[in-house]
Amino acid sequence: MSASNHANAFALPAVDADGRKNLVGLSRDELEAEMLSIGLEKFRARQLWHWIYHRGATDFAVMTTLAKPVREKMADHYAIARPTVVKDLKSTDGTRKWLLRMPDGQEVESVHIPEEDRGTLCVSSQVGCTLTCRFCHTGTQRLVRNLDASEILAQVMLARDMLDEWPAPPDGRMLSNIVMMGMGEPLFNYENVAKALKIVMDGDGISISKRRITLSTSGVVPAMRRCGEELNVNLAVSLHAVTDELRDIIMPINRKYPLRDLMAACRDYPGLSNARRITFEYVMLKGINDTPADARALVKLLEGVPAKINLIPFNPWPGAPYERSTDRAIQVFGDLVNNAGYASPVRTPRGEDIMAACGQLRSESLRLTAAERAAIDKVIAEKDAELA
Ligand code: SF4
Repeated sequence: MSASNHANAFALPAVDADGRKNLVGLSRDELEAEMLSIGLEKFRARQLWHWIYHRGATDFAVMTTLAKPVREKMADHYAIARPTVVKDLKSTDGTRKWLLRMPDGQEVESVHIPEEDRGTLCVSSQVGCTLTCRFCHTGTQRLVRNLDASEILAQVMLARDMLDEWPAPPDGRMLSNIVMMGMGEPLFNYENVAKALKIVMDGDGISISKRRITLSTSGVVPAMRRCGEELNVNLAVSLHAVTDELRDIIMPINRKYPLRDLMAACRDYPGLSNARRITFEYVMLKGINDTPADARALVKLLEGVPAKINLIPFNPWPGAPYERSTDRAIQVFGDLVNNAGYASPVRTPRGEDIMAACGQLRSESLRLTAAERAAIDKVIAEKDAELA
């Protein structure tokens, strides 16, 4: 399925069981149009924006700057919805994973990773994923649908609810950064992701700066430039292999957008400089992509791209076909890349005990039987056929 088809597919009706429209995820213009449609003034949209995105209100009754009849009228027509939290798991390292259920019963996961000086929320863009990166648990799940802008945004808003961060606390936020690295390929759902991120970045609301937002792609080349021009957020590229031969296998999207095209799109990404580099994600797979020769080839591949490389020790999941590289192999690889002038930190796995680490997200936990393994292989074969 093409990127544009993805963007249009699987729309979810934005009306709740009482027939009330959800206001979360509407642009400012759309919000104004809604106000006019129920006979209220345009400026009510600005007031609503403040209550919804700065104060985190989920109930019109608390909007005390609005007269009671206005609040009641709004409540008759609209909702400020949140997904249902099905599971709230906390790792021994402080990482939290929320399994969220959307109004149609579909589930996604988002993960909060606290660090000393910041906190990062890993946000999902799709239920499942059309791609089949071999090291990724989400890739074994069938794509069910794209998330709409409200569902992407709601993950951020719900995390703020859970972290008690409405309005922003004065002494630094627990939720300061966002990475679009959860379930799904964000550039296959670009319109919804862009709409949600523009609201997240709006200075009168959630107000997280584009410098603190990173969008991670497996390499959807045609959408990369647009993402840079329109959103200007940081870009991360899941690279994971330095030859087409290997990347075709572990990241089948490479058959459609091979390394030469991908690296050209990286060089063209708007706004790159030494202060603003692309992050290349590189999962370390034992005996697959972790030799010194691979490290040297990586350095050559990156020529001309302001880059930083995140080395990710592979995080296993039930039935995974790979093993994590040894610490020694990771260190040798990292030193070679680092000595060539590229920062190459090794990412400490976070939340492994709750299956929240990179590549481990999947909306149900699995202990695979042979039949289930066969079913997953079938899904992978079907999805790969679409990329052929
Ligand atoms: S790594 Fe990302 S793009 Fe690849 S299968 Fe997993 S969720 Fe999809």
